Amino acid sequence: MADPGEQPETTAGPEAPAVPRILHVDMDAFYASVEQRDHPEYRGKPVVVGGSPFSRGVVSAASYEARRHGIHSAMPLRRAYDLCPDAVFLPVDMERYAQVSRQLHDVLRRFSPLVEPLSLDEAFLEVTGGDAVAAGRAIKAAVREELGLTASVGVSVNKFLAKMASDLEKPDGFTVLMPRDVARLIHPLPVRKLWGIGPRSEIQLKSLGILTIGDILKVDLAVLERRFGRRAAELRLLAQGIDHSRVETEHEARSLGEETTFPRDVADRAVVAGHLDRFAGLLADRLRRRRLRARTVTVKVRYADFQTLTRSHTLETPVDDAADLARTARALWARVATDRKVRLVGLQVSGLVPADRPEQLRFPFW
Ligand SMILES: [Mg+2]
Repeated sequence: MADPGEQPETTAGPEAPAVPRILHVDMDAFYASVEQRDHPEYRGKPVVVGGSPFSRGVVSAASYEARRHGIHSAMPLRRAYDLCPDAVFLPVDMERYAQVSRQLHDVLRRFSPLVEPLSLDEAFLEVTGGDAVAAGRAIKAAVREELGLTASVGVSVNKFLAKMASDLEKPDGFTVLMPRDVARLIHPLPVRKLWGIGPRSEIQLKSLGILTIGDILKVDLAVLERRFGRRAAELRLLAQGIDHSRVETEHEARSLGEETTFPRDVADRAVVAGHLDRFAGLLADRLRRRRLRARTVTVKVRYADFQTLTRSHTLETPVDDAADLARTARALWARVATDRKVRLVGLQVSGLVPADRPEQLRFPFW
């Protein structure tokens, strides 16, 4: 640790725009909220979306009532049941959530053509002309009126701070976070709240005595680099509230991917295959929303010993269908599945081509 009396710099850097124009919109407990909206009898009750509590699946979403029992997403359903046997357990109705997601993104695109969807229920927006703070409030109101759901909105000068901001007052939050607020509002937060810090990195950071985001700035860069390599410098920038990444509309991407690091290494092949199915559904939806199809499907597996394998297959006909993606993913998984424990599994699609005929291709896709 460096001298604790030394106060780290917390400015957003001289080239950062002084005006907040980046928004992060994040629906609150999305799948569970859609279920509660459509089934009034579930309102006020702990709702767990994911499937039967007696299956080997994991929690996809938990209502705020369920979270009060300690239930959170990615937790085994069986564990959720132990924590709250009276919860309402529901299957994942991806088609309906995807439909609501499309409505959400339609709302967002009324406010800016620069929308970067992160998932079904989350997106960044860049508001270049006009007042981003006013736009953020108007988006919240539109989501409430037109979708009957609540979103939390963060407004800031960059994507990282906007994302941190949307989380500060969840649910139904609205937060404008400026670089001058970083030391007061962001530094005291636990490191796991930092973008890209999963359970594994959290353990590594804790072993260095880093418990809060502010602690990252108190450790010598060399010490951080020994654990995190090139990521160390980025972690330090983020801890200072600095992020130069751009809002990228989805059609600019060359590939799309979903992955998960398991809280505990997984030996059960069926569990891994189940996650690939889930990713296939998510990726199919992201492809369709962008009117794209994928030619190449890649499965990534990291084993408990950190060995990482990828296996790809290129299809004759590009696809945007969940079943097609899942079938290809499972076939690739079958080629690498062994009894070794898996710590991470991912699915990626690339070789993206427009689903429309070329002459219909124009900006924006939506
Ligand atoms: Mg959300």
